[in-house]
Amino acid sequence: MKGRSLLMIPGPVESEPEVLAALADPATSHVAPAFIEIFGRALERLRVVFNCPDGQPFIVAGSGTLAMDLLAANLTEPGMCALVVSTGYFGDRFGDMLTRYGAEVTHLRAPIGGAPTPAEVDAALSLRRYHLLTITHVDTSTGVRADVQGIAAVARRHDVLCLVDGVCSVGGEALDMTGWGVDAALTASQKALAVPPGLALAVAGPRALSAFQARKTPVASYYSDWSLWLPVMQAYEARRPAYFATPAVNLVHALEVSLAQIVAEGMEARVARHRRLSDALKAGIAALGLNQVPLHPELAATTLTAVYYPDGVDASLLPKVAAAGVILAGGLHKEIRDRYFRIGHMGTVRPADILATLGALETGLAAAGYRFDHGAGVAAAQSALIA
Ligand SMILES: *Cc1c(COP(=O)(O)O)cnc(C)c1O
Repeated sequence: MKGRSLLMIPGPVESEPEVLAALADPATSHVAPAFIEIFGRALERLRVVFNCPDGQPFIVAGSGTLAMDLLAANLTEPGMCALVVSTGYFGDRFGDMLTRYGAEVTHLRAPIGGAPTPAEVDAALSLRRYHLLTITHVDTSTGVRADVQGIAAVARRHDVLCLVDGVCSVGGEALDMTGWGVDAALTASQKALAVPPGLALAVAGPRALSAFQARKTPVASYYSDWSLWLPVMQAYEARRPAYFATPAVNLVHALEVSLAQIVAEGMEARVARHRRLSDALKAGIAALGLNQVPLHPELAATTLTAVYYPDGVDASLLPKVAAAGVILAGGLHKEIRDRYFRIGHMGTVRPADILATLGALETGLAAAGYRFDHGAGVAAAQSALIA
């Protein structure tokens, strides 16, 4: 029996063989001409993926939380007011981080499975002068997608910097930094960009860079300080050697390979693929009689699906699904952690992965004693895919 299983969690995700092969190369010098070219191309492709031609991309060894820190540390000064537009777990994390850097943080929350609307953000921003706001594009703890375009437009009207945590969206959901007026956005290698974990990625738009240049106080974090990273990123993009801290050379190479595949697929086609596969999976989930965490279908992300366990079933479902060959994730949101599970479907995901996932989920549900029409989930997804 083959010892492989399909990883369908909201990060890390499966990677293409060419991406994994890049990791197996012998480590190179970080100033070798071939590596400088790879780093430079990766930076250029990040501009495309974030659609921010006049922004500054950063590629730094670390996880998505470091990418959040790359924005929080550089764009916060003590005494600033920040609005955290929160849809779950990762909003709280951004709030904690901004507080750590001295900001006065206000959270704008929604009920679990909901998202603050642009009108609610507008009302909150009208109450006092804010310097910046943060939005989690897709909150991985709820599967909710926020209206980044609408909220960024409101932020612009109030002259507030708009920072987007796109860790669970960039490379799967549409994110148009320039077109929507997003000032800075971030992601990590292991989610919809389909590279193993280890790289923090961020893009600062022109207004974020001006705000950084206008700082009156030094950046409190040493490793995240843009003044140390900017010369390095600019040098690599100009195909010159530079050093501040050793880049994760193999991961940068893997990222460059994956970004080449992403750009070749095209962002529009990639977003459409995520939507189509997500719709099919969600049709299967509904056909099995299971409820999702997002309160309305239009709030549901296309990169993951958050599903409540049916009555009589608990987290012991997940090892049963794993025994059938598909790895799913448990709950993360603290208020409902034991009541739901999550299916990631981002990056390299294909129709066959959706069908395999529903098949394994049905096997697990049957083993857990849940009564349903065997095959109904797979059939609904297949109908959606063939339609
Ligand atoms: C995964 C995730 C993070 C944190 O990334 P790490 O790589 O785990 O540090 C932050 N925000 C969102 C929306 C995420 O999905």
